[in-house]
Amino acid sequence: MGCPASTVLTETDSARYAALPNSVYETSEEQWCALSPGHDGEHAAEVQSAVFSDRSYWMFWNDGEPGYRILLLPNCPVTCRRADHTTALCLLYAGHGGAHDWIDQKG
Ligand SMILES: [Zn+2]
Ligand SMILES: [Zn+2]
Repeated sequence: MGCPASTVLTETDSARYAALPNSVYETSEEQWCALSPGHDGEHAAEVQSAVFSDRSYWMFWNDGEPGYRILLLPNCPVTCRRADHTTALCLLYAGHGGAHDWIDQKG
């Protein structure tokens, strides 16, 4: 379970980020925080990324405050060594609060 916070992307921004070249996601207007519960700092949701890109667009917002900001940030550089000696990547941005979100621990 992640942080339960959600927010809404404006229709304009949703259309704008959905139209980026080589986009990975269907950008929806409702965005859920991708961080772990009780994380530090602002809530964060990944809005869009590009195929083979090492950067993603993240939106940040605070509880009880109107509006948000969207930043293009590098991926989290921290990796995790699995028991089988392969490497798991973190799905979040560099410098995120809370726990890392390892790619194979979804569920
Ligand atoms: Zn959050
Ligand atoms: Zn991380």
